[in-house]
Amino acid sequence: MALMVFKYSAMNGGKTINILQTTYSYEEKNFKVVIIKSILDTKGNDTILSRNGSNRKVDILLKENESLLTDKNYKIYYTAKVILVDEVELLNKEQIKELWTIAHLINIPVICYGLKSNFKGEIFGDGIAQIFAMADIVEEIGSSSLCICGKKAIFNARMVNDKYTSDGPNIIIDDGNKKEVKYVPLCSDCYLKYVQIGSLEAKKLAKLVDKIK
Ligand SMILES: [Zn+2]
Repeated sequence: MALMVFKYSAMNGGKTINILQTTYSYEEKNFKVVIIKSILDTKGNDTILSRNGSNRKVDILLKENESLLTDKNYKIYYTAKVILVDEVELLNKEQIKELWTIAHLINIPVICYGLKSNFKGEIFGDGIAQIFAMADIVEEIGSSSLCICGKKAIFNARMVNDKYTSDGPNIIIDDGNKKEVKYVPLCSDCYLKYVQIGSLEAKKLAKLVDKIK
């Protein structure tokens, strides 16, 4: 049976380019590709936009609690050679289980692309926890994103009005309409320095360091 694969990177890590390239490779051979993304991703609406200007309309724009196991959706993907899911961190636990079932019961490979952590440095949500639990393969996308210092980025820091923050709702999409919010991929050292230096853990450790000196 087919596999469910989870490919992750920090933001700007080449996920969209990877989806568009994979789509091209399949469609070049006349294989049907079905692209799914959540309606919560308001960037580009029903289109996947890459930073190099290429784009592709999605086949299923999935509502927040919509099932993939409906007549309407099944008719879209049952003849697909592959299902690609963009920004999979926006799907919920049930939707991930459905994707896994589609791969293993009706034999369509499912490749999911997304973030593993949110701006607080925690697992993005129950969908991502579920995909770590169920994916047959979990892999980091090779062309990973770079931190502002040039090292490999691991975290997705949120800036509000040009200040790093670890407070606020889990999901605020940077779709160009909320100019005050932006995301910056950071390495662990920069994430600690700019976002987490005031955290309980950092304060506690700093105290220990002072005490032992
Ligand atoms: Zn850095």
